Amino acid sequence: MSRNVQTGRTCPDSEPRNDDQPDLKSIGSVRIGGLDLPVLVDPSLESFGEFDPVGRVIRVGTGMAPEVLASTIIHEVLHAIDDALDLRLGERGVRAIETGLVAAARDDPGQARRWLAGLLAGPRVRGRAGA
Ligand SMILES: [Zn+2]
Repeated sequence: MSRNVQTGRTCPDSEPRNDDQPDLKSIGSVRIGGLDLPVLVDPSLESFGEFDPVGRVIRVGTGMAPEVLASTIIHEVLHAIDDALDLRLGERGVRAIETGLVAAARDDPGQARRWLAGLLAGPRVRGRAGA
């Protein structure tokens, strides 16, 4: 039985899931807890996204606006962090943090770009999720 954690948000353009694995396209990976989790596009996904803690993979659907795709990936990364660190945030906690991060970025996009530029300019810090 799958323990997939889903956003619960339905994607209007998604097709019903079938048993045949579709040809999944990778759109990158995220490193969480020392593991690289692939982020795959799954056209058959019935929700916007899901984190599969057994398969250690994030899947996102298709047909989303770029800002919805971005917030979906943030949401699923938060589920992966929740699982890796056993934070027990649950759907409510994940959704609250996602909403806060997205709001902070959208409220002041210039500042958010500067924060990200600074973050990306520095050396990659492994195994540290904050102090
Ligand atoms: Zn969720």
